[in-house]
Amino acid sequence: MVNTIQPESSLSGSLAPGLYIVATPIGNLGDITLRALDVLRRCDRVACEDTRVTGKLLKHLGVSQRLVRHDDHASAQDRARLVEAMRGKAVALVSDAGTPLVSDPGYRLVNEARDAGVAITVLPGPCAAVAGLTLSGLPCDRFLFAGFLPVKDKARQDFLAGLGMIDATLVLYESAQRLVRSLEAIAALWPRREVAVARELTKLHEECRRASAAELAAHYSLHAPKGEVVLLIGPPDEQAPGDPETLLREALKSLKPSQAAAQVARATGHDRKALYDRAMELKAQ
Ligand code: SAM
Repeated sequence: MVNTIQPESSLSGSLAPGLYIVATPIGNLGDITLRALDVLRRCDRVACEDTRVTGKLLKHLGVSQRLVRHDDHASAQDRARLVEAMRGKAVALVSDAGTPLVSDPGYRLVNEARDAGVAITVLPGPCAAVAGLTLSGLPCDRFLFAGFLPVKDKARQDFLAGLGMIDATLVLYESAQRLVRSLEAIAALWPRREVAVARELTKLHEECRRASAAELAAHYSLHAPKGEVVLLIGPPDEQAPGDPETLLREALKSLKPSQAAAQVARATGHDRKALYDRAMELKAQ
């Protein structure tokens, strides 16, 4: 089904009814796009995560708008009401910062609008994952955005181990408080992979450090990180997968024998059962 809105044709007057997904700055307010500014000015209402946060942005932009709260806790009736409004009005969807739906609310709303045949368009703009990726200098030809890392150690380790063999740069969101523990978990799993920490992007204290996970963990243990963080892990080194014995010993530091064997089998093409038997021997030593 084609239900997109034609790009705004004039810079004045009212907008065509429908849903406008609008990206907003992730720090530097100068990153608002001309098109976002135009739509925020001319739409009939703005659906936002937090009316105080979006209120501040609109005030800075000199825009006065009707704000409607829309977050992940919105009820089915609230969403249905908003979708109904889109039939006759232009509704802009924003999140607190960056691109809506990317680790932010909006997924259900957009799909329900789509199912209802409402016209939808997107105004692309800032996104911390893409900003961090491009700043890091890690390979951008293939990347996987995997959202927020789980909070608990075991869940985080399993989550990371599940991504281990993906031949792409991994892009993750992480909190500054948990950064060191996550770097330690990455160091245990993949001591040789390059890692980048992109912090406070587009803000005064923007920084991007690239090193091994162990080096970064050591740095941030001494210099407690603040603010917002994108964590990036370079792809596995295809040229030098390492010998299975060394990889197995490393993997066993953080994984169960079955998981370690599976991971090393995928990385090296060696027989999984033989690796499992060897992992059990090493475990018993
Ligand atoms: N939808 C947003 C986007 O497009 O980037 C992401 C929202 S998510 C709830 C917030 C997370 O994004 C933060 O915890 C942090 O990991 C990352 N983030 C947002 N702004 C950032 C910034 N300026 N610098 C680094 N990371 C940022």
